[in-house]
Amino acid sequence: MTLRVSSRFDGGNIECLSCDRPGNIRLRIAPDRRTEYLQWFYFRLTGARDQDCVLRIENAGAAAFKAGWRDYRAVASENRKDWFRVETALEGDTLVIRHKPRTDGIYFAYFAPYSAERHADVVADCLSYGNVRLAVPGTSVDGRDLDLLRIGEDGGTKRQIWIIARQHPGETMAEWFVEGLLQRLLTSDDNRVAELRRRAVFHVVPNMNPDGSRRGHLRTNAVGTDLNRAWNAPDPVKSPEVHAVRSVMAETGVDLFLDVHGDEGLPYVFLVGTLGIPSLSDAQQAWFTCFSDSLKAANPDFQSEYGYPAPKKGNANLGIANNWVAETFGALAMTLEQPFKDAANNPEPDQGYSPARAQALGAASLDAMADVLDLMDKS
Ligand code: ZN
Repeated sequence: MTLRVSSRFDGGNIECLSCDRPGNIRLRIAPDRRTEYLQWFYFRLTGARDQDCVLRIENAGAAAFKAGWRDYRAVASENRKDWFRVETALEGDTLVIRHKPRTDGIYFAYFAPYSAERHADVVADCLSYGNVRLAVPGTSVDGRDLDLLRIGEDGGTKRQIWIIARQHPGETMAEWFVEGLLQRLLTSDDNRVAELRRRAVFHVVPNMNPDGSRRGHLRTNAVGTDLNRAWNAPDPVKSPEVHAVRSVMAETGVDLFLDVHGDEGLPYVFLVGTLGIPSLSDAQQAWFTCFSDSLKAANPDFQSEYGYPAPKKGNANLGIANNWVAETFGALAMTLEQPFKDAANNPEPDQGYSPARAQALGAASLDAMADVLDLMDKS
């Protein structure tokens, strides 16, 4: 049986340097096009059933976030549904994965992938509900549709809630989060959720970066733009994805904005607020605290002790989506980060952080949104 490594599929990323024998499979991650960003990998190994394999990703030391490899374990799947953690270690600058596959075809990835097919299935499923509309406000650099779901009809006093995910395409947990959120929002007969549907219109972009997702990028679109640095001056050519979404936001306004991500380094789920924006108000800070406290009560993975250091007032980078939205609309605007590793405050060593946990967090975020709307109505 010939050993073979392939990544020529949706979201795939690896280059095979040599795979002559299972004990020394030499690999390297391709950087995002026109950039040096690399960390996302996703490939299939065939012909290695029942053999002790050692896979060496030799340029792991050049990853965008080298600290991301500390205490990290890669995921693998035989059936493409269940992803389990495998033995992984950083040895010098090489990430070494040791595993004995039980089948002739096994997939390895940085985190459980989220495919373009699954995205299309979820969007189609959402559209089977009468109150859901789909708009395509623009296309990506490669010409892919940007899907924008609107849940609920606009009415005079309704709040405008915006949720976007996967500006950074390798952060697939972001789209798993959105799937869980949509599932509960559309199907729950829970009073709180029903009330939320009456009080707010939801605008949801499950995947801001379909090109980067398809190409197996970590962080950028097809021409190397980090979309989450482009919000203050989106370029119709280099960042058409942000340009398109921003123009719809200008029409709807924004009361609450959640931009969903993954963080390579920190083993925690955490929120990033907008403390650095010039126009930060007391109300914005109170809404942030309310959302954070409520999410903590609703989900065991979320915590508020660990996160990024807060910038000084006036020092915010307004190219970052949540800062730009908070500054422009006076909204509550947050970035939500989830780990690639595990949530250290609520460890599940077998699984690590997983699609199921991201979905549960997405569903729980609706409780926090309901509490914030209560507070907004009072202030
Ligand atoms: Zn990100």
